[in-house]
Amino acid sequence: MSTTEKPGSQVISPRGSDTAAGGAPRATRLQAVRGMNDVLPDEAPLWQRVEDAARTVFAQYGYRNLRVPVVEATALFVRGIGDATDIVEKEMYTFADRLNGDSLTLRPEATAGIVRAAIEHSLTYERPQRVWTMGPMFRHERPQKGRYRQFHQLDAEALGFEGPDVDAEQIMMLARLWKALGLADVSLKINSIGDADDRLRHRALLIEHFERHRDVLDADAERRLHANPLRLLDSKHPPMQEAIRLAPRLIDRIGAPARAHFEGLTAALDAAGIAYEVDARLVRGLDYYNRTVFEWVTGALGAQGAIAGGGRYDGLAALLGGKPMPACGYACGIERLVLLLREQGATAHDAPLAYVAHAGDAAARMALAVAESLRDRGHAVVVHAGGGSLKSQMKRADASGAAVALIIGDDEVAAGTVTLKPLRVAAPQSAVAVADVAARAASYAA
Ligand code: AMP
Repeated sequence: MSTTEKPGSQVISPRGSDTAAGGAPRATRLQAVRGMNDVLPDEAPLWQRVEDAARTVFAQYGYRNLRVPVVEATALFVRGIGDATDIVEKEMYTFADRLNGDSLTLRPEATAGIVRAAIEHSLTYERPQRVWTMGPMFRHERPQKGRYRQFHQLDAEALGFEGPDVDAEQIMMLARLWKALGLADVSLKINSIGDADDRLRHRALLIEHFERHRDVLDADAERRLHANPLRLLDSKHPPMQEAIRLAPRLIDRIGAPARAHFEGLTAALDAAGIAYEVDARLVRGLDYYNRTVFEWVTGALGAQGAIAGGGRYDGLAALLGGKPMPACGYACGIERLVLLLREQGATAHDAPLAYVAHAGDAAARMALAVAESLRDRGHAVVVHAGGGSLKSQMKRADASGAAVALIIGDDEVAAGTVTLKPLRVAAPQSAVAVADVAARAASYAA
């Protein structure tokens, strides 16, 4: 029996096998879902470098880790992100829970879940909170370089803070992260999209303006014109660009409180020596922002140049049924940071200090003991497993990236020594007493 396969689709039995009874097992080869990538061991060290640097920066600014589920009630995102946004309209992975029919969604971003958690656990009841999280997000976008359906974000959120100082702090955190990673070619855009009443007034002006330019609107813009006209400014549709350029600018019309907030932000950035461009057209893909919006961009990744974006969302908590809670946060795409690092020639390895090759039963036992004694001192050691000649073991040692090979055979067992062979520098091998192996090996560490 063979399964019928339509081009582009795979028929996969629940047990992962499509064998006829009695036939030779021939399991269907499963593949990762399009747009959802594996991070292979050779690639992971750069990811870890990014994640470690981020954890350090979060801690340096007093942000504490908060972990929220990957799956939330669909209503959280519909209400929180806004139903006239790209994300909610067409990018969410939404499904019915088979047990009770609840509509659930794989999180397309982290902020809504974090605010939900803050409300649910009264996190800001006594004092404001700085929190961070990192992990996978899911959006059904057209995959391309730097844009995936499962991607990973670093998120920081300052919950319960009103002033522009935390907005500036978050921008400075990211500047510090770029510095820690050695990232070049990143720049900062900021804007203020004012308060709700500013936006309401501006909204009316925008609708009027684009109604006068109806002939250039595409279908998306037509549909959003009355639902979410601010989003029209985000459009890449070429015929609309001139109308977008001429559109009334929100930042020219924001009220005194939002203006004071924005001036507070720019003053803090100036004082910190952080360069920025005020981009009056900068809006965010999500509905819940007010006042500050910012984006860090790079010219090095083509169309997917946004590496981090954020802003203030003072109205979100109330929208989700909580008490009003001023807040500011950002999200940064890990894949794009890794791409940018690679683009700049960065490499990272996770090689062990030593690879232990051995021949014979007594040597195998000694190899384990020597490796443990090195690990006791905090070193990473790989003990050869799977047999084979010493020659083939040395090939593995070399491929492991280890700084040294430790070779143990009958002679070494008898003498209580280890033969230490440096692998990355031209130096002779030598017999080393077991007690001295760790120190000698460490002297060859990269
Ligand atoms: P957003 O939540 O849309 O503001 O995105 C914040 C950051 O997440 C962006 O600046 C990107 O670095 C990253 N990002 C957003 N969408 C994707 C995606 N589909 N694939 C990879 N990274 C993404």
